[in-house]
Amino acid sequence: MLIHNTAAPAAERGRVAVSTQVRVCRVGACSALIPLTLTVCLTHYLDEVFTRISAVQERCRQREMPDSRTLSWLSRQGDLAVTLLSSVGLNFSEDRARLLELLLCLANLHESMRRPQSP
Ligand SMILES: [Zn+2]
Repeated sequence: MLIHNTAAPAAERGRVAVSTQVRVCRVGACSALIPLTLTVCLTHYLDEVFTRISAVQERCRQREMPDSRTLSWLSRQGDLAVTLLSSVGLNFSEDRARLLELLLCLANLHESMRRPQSP
């Protein structure tokens, strides 16, 4: 039998952050918390990264290899994804799934850069 609880959880009001600084995402109307290693929330970070990666993939398809700045950016995103995956506080399976997708995407991109002549 369901018990209907209409009262708001007490934890939702007046929660005060101790010691660590709490930053909220300022993209649009988003106000999600930002992980320490990022400058926007995970959702907006991933949106941005996937957009940039698909642009790189598109250029690869046209036989245009990324420059060294792009390559080092890509490898930083891989490191970052691994760090984020192992971070405490990342509890949402959706976030984990998107981070794993990012790693897979980066791996595929590396593979396609190693074999630029493949069809
Ligand atoms: Zn956000």
